[in-house]
Amino acid sequence: MKDLMQEKWTKRPLIISGPCSAETEEQVLETATRLVNTGKVDILRAGIWKPRTKPGMFEGIGMKGLPWMAQAKKITGLPITVEVATAKHVEDALHFDVDMLWIGARTTVNPFSVQEVCDALRGVDVPVLIKNPINPDLELWCGGIERLQKVGVKQVGMIHRGFSNYGNTEFRNAPMWHLPIEMKRRFPEMLLICDPSHICGNRTMLQSVAQKSIDLDFNGLMIESHIDPDNAWSDAKQQITPERLSEMLGELIWRSENT
Ligand code: PEP
Ligand code: MN
Repeated sequence: MKDLMQEKWTKRPLIISGPCSAETEEQVLETATRLVNTGKVDILRAGIWKPRTKPGMFEGIGMKGLPWMAQAKKITGLPITVEVATAKHVEDALHFDVDMLWIGARTTVNPFSVQEVCDALRGVDVPVLIKNPINPDLELWCGGIERLQKVGVKQVGMIHRGFSNYGNTEFRNAPMWHLPIEMKRRFPEMLLICDPSHICGNRTMLQSVAQKSIDLDFNGLMIESHIDPDNAWSDAKQQITPERLSEMLGELIWRSENT
């Protein structure tokens, strides 16, 4: 796999898409096929283990979803990425040749968990993206990056997914754009990706949040997509079909068109 972090993604942003959660084999394969058919997606994502707020919600399909992702990669040629929160997740994902890992916002807040994931990554050459913590604590985000770098992970990237707040607000997670901008200042060489899906929590604002991140020189987007968004097992309100994603990406004004 090419060195994803060495690519600067300056002309064209890196696009990661796929369902919030892997649900069934058919859903994963059909999503992957429809995404690759758009010709606009670089990496397929899916949550295998889902950190849900309350017990009793769908907590991810678990290990059995990994062969589905591996199969999706085989059929489409798309590299695959999943969220990891424990050492066992890392081991299982690497066993199925997952090309890239990401650390979720609820994990970044916990240095014990981040360190456990990092210890499992010692000596492993795999790109890792780390989401901001759910609270607007920049040092915690930096700490996660430093932990990854300390165990020798060479390809580290950041995902901005917004910051949680209490009560009903315009955004599911407030973007607080000055925070990712500050991270870009501190880590100028590091890939910075925006996750409009978890910032918005709905479909209507995705386009404007994605455009804003491009205007701010982000290097890519992670956007959730599903073959039947309304019936998704998690984050149904914010997912879009692969075809809608394609339209959305087509309407965005890229930097290369500005210059
Ligand atoms: C996800 O990407 O599906 C997810 C759980 O995101 P976050 O960690 O940003 O809440
Ligand atoms: Mn999600």
